[in-house]
Amino acid sequence: MIIVQKYGGSSVATSDKMKAVASRVAEAAKKADVVVVVSAMGDTTDELISLAKQLNPMPDGREMDKLLATGEQASSALMALALHALGKGAVSLTGGQAGIITEKAPGKARIRKIDARRIKQELDSGKVVVVAGFQGITDNVSSADITTLGRGGSDTTAVALAAALSAKSCEIYTDVDGVFTADPRVERNARKLDTITYEEMLELAGQGARVMHSRAVEVGELYGVEILVANSTKNAPGTLIKKEDSNMEIRNPVRGIAHDTDIARLTVMGVPDRPGIAYQIFHSLSEANISVDVIVQNVSDAGITDLSFTVNNADLDKCKQRLSPVIKTIGARDLISDCTVAKISIVGSGIRSHPGYADRMFGALAEEDINIVSITTSEIRITCLIDKEKIKQAIRTLHKAFELEKV
Ligand code: ADP
Ligand code: ASP
Ligand code: MG
Repeated sequence: MIIVQKYGGSSVATSDKMKAVASRVAEAAKKADVVVVVSAMGDTTDELISLAKQLNPMPDGREMDKLLATGEQASSALMALALHALGKGAVSLTGGQAGIITEKAPGKARIRKIDARRIKQELDSGKVVVVAGFQGITDNVSSADITTLGRGGSDTTAVALAAALSAKSCEIYTDVDGVFTADPRVERNARKLDTITYEEMLELAGQGARVMHSRAVEVGELYGVEILVANSTKNAPGTLIKKEDSNMEIRNPVRGIAHDTDIARLTVMGVPDRPGIAYQIFHSLSEANISVDVIVQNVSDAGITDLSFTVNNADLDKCKQRLSPVIKTIGARDLISDCTVAKISIVGSGIRSHPGYADRMFGALAEEDINIVSITTSEIRITCLIDKEKIKQAIRTLHKAFELEKV
């Protein structure tokens, strides 16, 4: 029986925390074959990014992947050493050594396949296998490169390994007790959920609930891996991410609130209103692997319109760089960016069958005098763009309005 456990950056931030995690792993290894995925220690990834930017404000993607992957490589080797000190056989592997093959997309690579033979060999020899999270390697033997899976990507390493190894469980250990109705560090009335569906978790993660990497949830759903999210310092039940079941029907149609303050809004001003323009703008961004959200096009006035959308702050410079030639080609007037906005979303599979939730959300925000800049929806989500300064107030208001503190 194989189990996969993942420990996040804050859970392995110091040598004492590493030791505590190693003890938990050694305990688990008494009953099962254990594969451990670790993140980089504490803020290592942020520190490496900042170091790179001091040397080059627009760093090359390949070199960044190689640099950032070292954070997880260090923590995996240290974890193996901590296990040895407890008398437990262990071996650390980079993502590539663990057989994780990805596409070549610097900073955002997706896993293409996993060749788990090395992991299985090491497990068969009685060792705990410690895998460096958040990374893989490209397939091309003569020019293989180290890749990374995007911020928060160690979750995805863990879930993908659990799928490839047909593991009995996939446990994501972090610094909070599970998935809450809102970020528990921001909303003190947030309540831990016992279960949540893949679909809901995917929407929450996609809209800023960084407790899970959205790709990890996608992989979990695709391969039917149930994911337990729990506290790395406690023996408490946590939250199980799984398929919808009939018991879930009686609960609150809204399951949670996600927020994201790490975004920028871009507006292409004076765009000619004719076929193919949106394609040219968004194609240039998708080619650069930049995700866009909350796309709004104004009603055209004399054949001219404005087009706005949001991107992650980390992509802002690349986005401007990609768009500047496109703006000229399509004959748009200007490109402006605004970093004073934030996204707030309500998510729940019950939203689909309960009309009136948008109405309640807008009403609650209006009562607090919070202006909505723009709105997008999915079947189970409503997202508003608002003033970043008002985000905490908006979370508090919506948490109350949708009675999320109640079971
Ligand atoms: P790790 O380093 O373990 O991967 P992260 O920092 O990536 O941990 O994710 C855990 C953090 O996610 C929590 O500390 C919490 O502030 C934040 N978070 C945001 N939304 C939620 C939510 N709905 N439930 C739980 N945690 C959340
Ligand atoms: N260390 C990486 C990050 O900080 C990956 C992870 O923690 O999952 O984003
Ligand atoms: Mg994380």
